[in-house]
Amino acid sequence: MNSFPPFPQENARIGLLGVAFDENSSYKRGSVLAPQRIREAFFCDSANLWTEDETDLGADGLFADAGDIAPSAGEMPVAVEQAAGRFYEAGLKVIALGGDHSVTYPLVFAAATHHPELSILHFDAHPDLYDNFEDNPYSHASPFARIMEAGLVKRLVQVGIRTITGHQRQQAKRFGVEVLTMRNWRDVFDLQFDSPLYLTFDMDCLDPAFAPGISHREPGGLSTREALSVIQSLQVNIVGADIVELNPTQDPLNVTEMVAAKIFKEIAAKMLKYA
Ligand code: MN
Ligand code: MN
Repeated sequence: MNSFPPFPQENARIGLLGVAFDENSSYKRGSVLAPQRIREAFFCDSANLWTEDETDLGADGLFADAGDIAPSAGEMPVAVEQAAGRFYEAGLKVIALGGDHSVTYPLVFAAATHHPELSILHFDAHPDLYDNFEDNPYSHASPFARIMEAGLVKRLVQVGIRTITGHQRQQAKRFGVEVLTMRNWRDVFDLQFDSPLYLTFDMDCLDPAFAPGISHREPGGLSTREALSVIQSLQVNIVGADIVELNPTQDPLNVTEMVAAKIFKEIAAKMLKYA
């Protein structure tokens, strides 16, 4: 296999969607290029398609790929929700490749429609809880304010956080968000969930030493190994996931896209473990 088979695909278990969209970025553009680069890294001949728990992601019938959508800012929420919704209606789990983090609001909307009592595990340097960032309530700095206001999930747990402001601290309190900050980073190895999980992975949760190809480099983050260990430690049914904020224009050695592909593989392996 050197590309994913197209959706629909009989008996597929994970639907893939690329969201080539970065117009809600507040600082640097470039994550629009990420979906294609993560696909290329996934199939790069330097590696193979087996995961660390010895799952062969190259086996027939695991994936069905709807390709990339490239919506305008106005079209984005509905286009993403509909594209993800088609997978859930077909009984698939979903992995979306962003794009900036604003795509997560409609992705979670689609997931929550089909999976009530959803919880979110959110990897990020930033809590993304701004009520309204630079006059854009749909900014990539705000998706979790929108998700919590809409009551889409029963729990939001954030890990990797190291940039929280006073306003966002208030927002976290208002919405009951469980913020695990990097000051107390060892707490991330003891996460328990008792309901279906949506996993959203902002690449800037990682220390920029490991993943420099991002738009907001915030030192003091998780190592790639630590993030993988958190994912591998989960004992929960992951129904949807996204990997966002890879910025290929900031990734001259293509190291960050390989990290994104690795995260993708280990999330997929964990998804396949639970019905
Ligand atoms: Mn984010
Ligand atoms: Mn971030």
